[in-house]
Formats: sequence, structure tokens, C-alpha cells
Amino acid sequence: MVCPKCGSNHVNTQTVTDTEVTEKTKGFGCIKACIGFLIFNVWGILCGLCGMGKGKRTTRTKSKVVNVCQDCGNRF
Ligand SMILES: [Zn+2]
Repeated sequence: MVCPKCGSNHVNTQTVTDTEVTEKTKGFGCIKACIGFLIFNVWGILCGLCGMGKGKRTTRTKSKVVNVCQDCGNRF
């Protein structure tokens, strides 16, 4: 491994792990319930109520490899 900036071979390879937490909070699906009511009557309302107060949490883990030059500090 050679640094593309200064040509040095004192390059450290590091694995960086990023953890990203995304949280989506859903309120009462009013529009959903209304549409559901129009289409499925009572069942539509029940379906709309089912989605009430449920939050969705997604955790994503990304790992990437970063090469750091020990001589000039270049990351590539
Ligand atoms: Zn370098």
C-alpha cells in the first residue's frame, strides 16, 4: 500500500464502524383510517388504529476501510 499523495508506504489500514440509528415515530394514522373507512368501513378504522403510537427503529451498521498515511496524514 502506497500513499497516492506523497508516495510513502507507511500506511495504516483502519476499519471504521459507523452505527446509525434512525427512529420513526408514527402518530395516529388519521388519513389512513379515513381512507380505510371509505374503502373497508370498520375494518379500515381498526387498521388505522393499529398503526397508532408505534415507532419504528432501524439500526444500520456500516463499516468502511480507511487508509491513513503516517507521513502526511492523507486518508484515502
Ligand atoms: Zn502520504
